[in-house]
Amino acid sequence: VFEVKHFKYIVIGGGVAAGYAAREFTRQGLQLGELAIISKEGVAPYERPALSKSYLFPNEAARLPSFHVCVGSGGEGLLPEWYEEKGIELILGTEIVKADLASKTIASASGRIFRYQTLIIATGSEAKKLKDFGVQGADAKSIFYLREISDADKLVEALKAKQKGKAVVIGGGYIGLEVGAAMRINGFDVSMVYPGPWCMNRLFSPAIASFYEEYYSNKGIKLIKGTVAVEFEVGSNGEVKTVKLKDGQLLQADIVVVGIGGRPLTALFKGQVEEEKVGIKTDGLFRTSVPDVYAVGDVATFPMKMYKDMRRVEHVDHARKSAEQAVKAIRASEDGKYIEEYDYLPFFYSRYFDLSWCFYGDNVGEPVLFKDIGNADTDDDSKCKNPRFGTYWIHNHKVVGAFLEGGTAEENIGIAKIARLQPEKKKEELEMLGMLYARLA
Ligand code: FAD
Repeated sequence: VFEVKHFKYIVIGGGVAAGYAAREFTRQGLQLGELAIISKEGVAPYERPALSKSYLFPNEAARLPSFHVCVGSGGEGLLPEWYEEKGIELILGTEIVKADLASKTIASASGRIFRYQTLIIATGSEAKKLKDFGVQGADAKSIFYLREISDADKLVEALKAKQKGKAVVIGGGYIGLEVGAAMRINGFDVSMVYPGPWCMNRLFSPAIASFYEEYYSNKGIKLIKGTVAVEFEVGSNGEVKTVKLKDGQLLQADIVVVGIGGRPLTALFKGQVEEEKVGIKTDGLFRTSVPDVYAVGDVATFPMKMYKDMRRVEHVDHARKSAEQAVKAIRASEDGKYIEEYDYLPFFYSRYFDLSWCFYGDNVGEPVLFKDIGNADTDDDSKCKNPRFGTYWIHNHKVVGAFLEGGTAEENIGIAKIARLQPEKKKEELEMLGMLYARLA
């Protein structure tokens, strides 16, 4: 019979949100032994975005401990020793398989039982799998997904084993684009396949996408749009030989990497807590419908105050900020204090090759493209060494979103301000001002 361990606070999940929650608890004054973080992963919380970027590079690849949280937002890296010093129990390699929110009890796969006063659900997402879409041969070895550090380690091993081979990347979202670039930098012959008419079509306008698509083509990456993989032909060694596409094309492959989106991990709590838009419904303090249970990061569907609707956001900036907000709210409720509701301005970013972009706000309405012409060293945008361009989105006469490739820190702060304040502007004005508008904001 296992003993039941009691904690004042338990965080289920040991990802980005868990790490930032731990730091916020210590800022608010945490007693030794009050907090436990229980994670399926075997390492202390780290900045997950590194896995599809510098973790895959052939030279000077990022490795832990260099990217533990909170380095991604300019903070100190929290090493396992930090948790020990603060009296935070980091229970790693432990999957929670049962949660009974009514009795405030959770249980691990190995039968360990934990009780809490306050729970934070920070289980993040899992990668969608091709076998769920009925793709034949999708169980083959040499098909990789990327969510956790153990996935990235398997991919790195394959990159070494299949050096300079043929890679097929399935998916044209941020993971597909980042992994495609990393594979090319590793010397692979890369083809990318995605169903949309252009890459990142949930965020990019056609004009933005066309820049990146040309850039990728110039780097020697083959882009195959408007189709999907329907079957993998698997060799006798269990590895993929060819990828068959819906349009009939056959692609040879030594490695296949799939990035077709994520799904929030909420199954443990089904039927026990209110859900909305496939996430766990929260208020602006990240309280769920169950008392003393909070949900943060990828799993939370929260009120987006600026846009007066409910949203779920699968991005690292929100994981950090929602975790901090939930911890502040927990401590405020204990002290009978009031805190402001979460007022989030969406922020996404990505990096490929020498490129780096930021986006703030909402990409609704009409996109207005602008270029920093003075800076260009060639007329061909996609060959320019230091490309700088952007897009503002106008909705109901207001600038509601802004995207910038190659912006300076100052300009990125500028577009954040614009997206937050939503000034009224005409398309012609924005076209004329372009980058200058970001600089002056
Ligand atoms: P996660 O960081 O995913 O953490 C969830 C944790 O919970 C994991 O440790 C998991 O093992 C654990 N867990 C799950 N279920 C259980 C269970 N039952 N028991 C115990 N533990 C459990 N966002 C950006 O804005 N920009 C980027 O460039 C970017 N790049 C990314 C690259 C990759 C490869 C990935 C996968 C994501 C990227 N993201 C990016 C998204 C961002 O990383 C996530 O939005 C963020 O990590 C969400 O934080 P989270 O704490 O909610 O979940």
